Amino acid sequence: MKELKFLGVGSGFNTALGSTAAYFIEGETLFLIDCGESAYARINELGLLKDIDCINFFCTHTHSDHIGSAGNLLLDCKWRSHITFNLICPTNADHFNDIVNILNGFGGKNAYSVIDPALLDHTYKSFTSVRYKPTRHGECKAAYSLVFYTDEGAVFYSGDSETMGFAEELIMGGAKIKHMYFDVSSNVNSDCHLPLPNLYRLMPEQFRGRTTCMHFDSEKAIVMAKSMGFNVAEAERGKHE
Ligand SMILES: [Zn+2]
Ligand SMILES: [Zn+2]
Repeated sequence: MKELKFLGVGSGFNTALGSTAAYFIEGETLFLIDCGESAYARINELGLLKDIDCINFFCTHTHSDHIGSAGNLLLDCKWRSHITFNLICPTNADHFNDIVNILNGFGGKNAYSVIDPALLDHTYKSFTSVRYKPTRHGECKAAYSLVFYTDEGAVFYSGDSETMGFAEELIMGGAKIKHMYFDVSSNVNSDCHLPLPNLYRLMPEQFRGRTTCMHFDSEKAIVMAKSMGFNVAEAERGKHE
């Protein structure tokens, strides 16, 4: 898997940077991680639907900055672009029913299929498997991180999380790690996003170059992340070629 691309890198209230959502494309399939309020507009602006015939959609949790425009994307796929839309999520995940209710409420009933992540094992070149891992995100009681296992190591995507979550297990367990993406906060007292000083303290130095921060609540968070030696996610610009 190449590095993830981003449609936006902002937090829920930092609309200037867009809703944090990531993607990669393999062949004619778009793998989309979250689809918050601004994501559908960016997908259109980048022309991402032009050459694909399938979207595999992952949803970390149902805060609006992570699912807010998924309904419009789904309806576009069904009625305009004629693209297969798959919700990749275990049916026993705590947020599964919420996602389904939202997509159906947006008018998308019967417009998508549900696929368990395990059914994608060894199906694509970009990764061998992908799994949802429960995490803690303030008062949101159903939040998940994602981990893609690739030949080059695990790719961890925090979603919204107040801790390093499953990434700590990967590190402590000596797993081969390709890259890690974390939502961060410049607020040292944040109890729903990972305070940057915590990430700096907990992340072994040798992994900092393989760590990318995202979901920025402020310019200060970006400056802080860079000064700590972390990579900083940037939204894709211009038109997709
Ligand atoms: Zn968020
Ligand atoms: Zn959230």
